[in-house]
Amino acid sequence: CYILSVETSCDETAVAVIKDGKEVLSNVVASQIESHKAFGGVVPEVASRKHVETITLMLEEAVTASGISMQDLSAIAVTQGPGLVGALLVGVVAATSLALALSKPLIGTHHIAGHIYANALVADIKYPCMALVVSGGHTELVHIPREGHFEVIGRTRDDAVGEAYDKVARAIGFPYPGGPYVDRLAMASEESIDLPRSWLEPNSYDFSFSGLKSAVLNVVNQRKMRGEPPMEGAIARGFQESVVEVLVTKAIRAVKAYEVKQLLLCGGVAANRGIRAELTRVCEQEGIELLIPPFEYCTDNGAMIGAAAYLKWKHQQFNDLDMKASPQLSLEEWSVN
Ligand code: ATP
Ligand code: MG
Ligand code: FE
Repeated sequence: CYILSVETSCDETAVAVIKDGKEVLSNVVASQIESHKAFGGVVPEVASRKHVETITLMLEEAVTASGISMQDLSAIAVTQGPGLVGALLVGVVAATSLALALSKPLIGTHHIAGHIYANALVADIKYPCMALVVSGGHTELVHIPREGHFEVIGRTRDDAVGEAYDKVARAIGFPYPGGPYVDRLAMASEESIDLPRSWLEPNSYDFSFSGLKSAVLNVVNQRKMRGEPPMEGAIARGFQESVVEVLVTKAIRAVKAYEVKQLLLCGGVAANRGIRAELTRVCEQEGIELLIPPFEYCTDNGAMIGAAAYLKWKHQQFNDLDMKASPQLSLEEWSVN
């Protein structure tokens, strides 16, 4: 089975060809970061236009690099949601047109299922498992009792982790997206300032990062007003320690409560060295099997969409060619039947 998969939910135009849900034959990603940097974040209108400019080229590149012909494809997959509606539309129109022209089945795919199943590209997932999703728009704990079935047991009530990283980065003077800069600064700093942890109710698996973000902004502004040295390193480290402690503690609690076989880390912030290191350490200590995708499958890419689409392929569950982009698509409603 050869699936061509398209991802345009945010600011990367990405296409991949995946064999049997696991083997990546090609995986091309065009990032739009340079186009959005001047605005300090993703501008939806700019994102849509860039996708339109790039999508045809990416499709051709992915097919050429895969070494197989368009006619040999088994199905066309595309991110149906969640994401920016105008950005999603470009991928959906490209994929449905291709499916129509080639008479191939169409598989609308969930972006976060893609992030989760990026792990399937490099390891065997055992069920039941728990996924900790940390990305630019999502922070979720997802219980997966069996393949392709999702129950979101906790989510952020305000900012996503990646969003908080980017806002903190901006406050201490880094360009968008600043997550990787804050990570580097935090890892290099010997000093750390004490910042609050947001635990919410004792039994809650939900998250909240806006209070922490505001605390950071207050420290930055107060130091500026008093003419004190900015201490970016200590702030970055204090922020990262707070984020990591809450994420790791809640994830481990969920793993134990649901008695799952594996913990899967995923999403763009899974590239964070602080989170990777601490989760690895605690999972080793607790005897929990941990999966983390390689860096190139953490941020948005087409290969992860192909891996998730393969779940639907196995059950021959396809979408009609009049499929709409679905900016609010939930994981539960996308679960395989
Ligand atoms: P979503 O998947 O929720 O729709 P998205 O696709 O925009 O959001 P991703 O591409 O998965 O998000 O991740 C991008 C985010 O990851 C950005 O906020 C970026 O700053 C953050 N990020 C990337 N690398 C790191 C890192 N090393 N440390 C912290 N954050 C990071
Ligand atoms: Mg992105
Ligand atoms: Fe993403």
